[in-house]
Amino acid sequence: MERRPRLFVVSGPAGVGKGTLVTKVRELRPDLGLTVSATTRSPRPGEVDGVSYHFLSDEEFTRRVEAGEFLEWAQVHDHRYGTLRSEVDRCLAAGKSVVLEIDVQGGGNVKRIYPDAVRVFIEPPSWDVLVGRLRGRGTEDEASFKLRLEDARQELDLAPTYDVRIVNDDLQTAVRQLADTFESYERYGGTSNNGNH
Ligand code: ADP
Ligand code: 5GP
Repeated sequence: MERRPRLFVVSGPAGVGKGTLVTKVRELRPDLGLTVSATTRSPRPGEVDGVSYHFLSDEEFTRRVEAGEFLEWAQVHDHRYGTLRSEVDRCLAAGKSVVLEIDVQGGGNVKRIYPDAVRVFIEPPSWDVLVGRLRGRGTEDEASFKLRLEDARQELDLAPTYDVRIVNDDLQTAVRQLADTFESYERYGGTSNNGNH
C-alpha cells in the first residue's frame, strides 16, 4: 500500500531520548519532514540557530505570536516554544510526513487543529533512568535540571492520552518501534497492536 503523509507528534519528558530517537529514525527515513521550532531559551553549546531551533528574543517571539505565525506555542519549563505554521506547511506541501517534537500542551493543541495527527509518547524504563539520562546529558544547570524533573511527573501522567506509547529502554529497539509506528500509520492508518508496544 502507498504511504499517505501524516502529521506525527512526539512528546515525552526532558531527557527521555526524544531528540536521539527522532534523529536516528530520520537516518532511516530521510524523507520525513522535521520542523525547526522557535524558542526564547538560549542555545546550548553546539546548538545552531535555524537548525536546532530558531532562537528568538522575547520581543520577537511575541511579535510572531501576534502576527499569527505559530500553529501552536506553549510555555514549557521556563521559556516559550512554538511551531511555526510555515515550517509545517513547507513539509506537507512537499508531500512529506511531518514530525513535531513538542511538549504535551503542544501535542493537545495540534490534535485540536489536525484531528488526524498521530501522537506518540516516549517513556523512560524507570524514573531513575530518566534522572540519570538528564544528568548524563550535562546540559542543564541545577535549577533547570530540577524544573525539568518536576515537570516530568505531570508529563508522564498524560502518557495514557497518547495514541502510541514507546518505552525508550534499548535504543535500537525503540528506534525500530518508532520507525514502524510511522510506517504503519502512513500505510495502514494505524498499528496492528493498537499502539501498545
Ligand atoms: P530529549 O530530547 O528527550 O530531552 P535526548 O535525546 O537529549 O532527550 O537524550 C537524553 C540523553 O539520554 C542523551 O545523553 C542521550 O544520548 C541519552 N539516551 C537517549 N536514548 C537512550 C537510550 N535508549 N539508552 C541510553 N541513553 C539514551
Ligand atoms: P529543550 O529545551 O530541552 O530543547 O526542550 C524543552 C521542551 O520543549 C521539550 O519537551 C520539547 O519537546 C518542547 N518543545 C520544543 N519545541 C516545541 C514547540 O515548538 N512547541 C511546544 N509546545 N513544545 C516544544
